[in-house]
Amino acid sequence: MTTENANISLFLEKYCPRCVVRLLRCDWKILVKNEQEIVSYLEENFKINLQIYLSTHVEAANGNSKTNSSCCQACVGILRSSFIQNSANVVSNKVDNNSYKFDSYQLLYFLPVQLIAFDKNSKKEFENFAAKDKDTHDVKELFKVLLEPLVTEQLK
Ligand SMILES: [Zn+2]
Repeated sequence: MTTENANISLFLEKYCPRCVVRLLRCDWKILVKNEQEIVSYLEENFKINLQIYLSTHVEAANGNSKTNSSCCQACVGILRSSFIQNSANVVSNKVDNNSYKFDSYQLLYFLPVQLIAFDKNSKKEFENFAAKDKDTHDVKELFKVLLEPLVTEQLK
């Protein structure tokens, strides 16, 4: 195992898989994949075995395991697939229950303020590993892109 590979495993102890690829500044198309696919991507690209990680963390986040899923120190869990799915359910339930009539809509986002500090710290930690030619996409941007298709789908 190289130093870099060892670091990926360590990063996954503190950050969710999506934040690891986000902070490494991987391609956008990887950032929007589901967590399982992101873990497979990391395994392939860094030649590491993350099966143990998958069985404890990803299933825990999906509520299939009793293991405590560690909270992400960059996005506080906002970018976990299960959180995004739950948020979409909350939005569409609210809309359904109030029987709003509309042709189009725009969601407003208020994310926790501590995200700014968290994100700054985590970017620093990834500095030596991140792709130099790209910028880091922020949590809010990614959250919107992941949430909105789910909401649109549910409101049909
Ligand atoms: Zn995260």
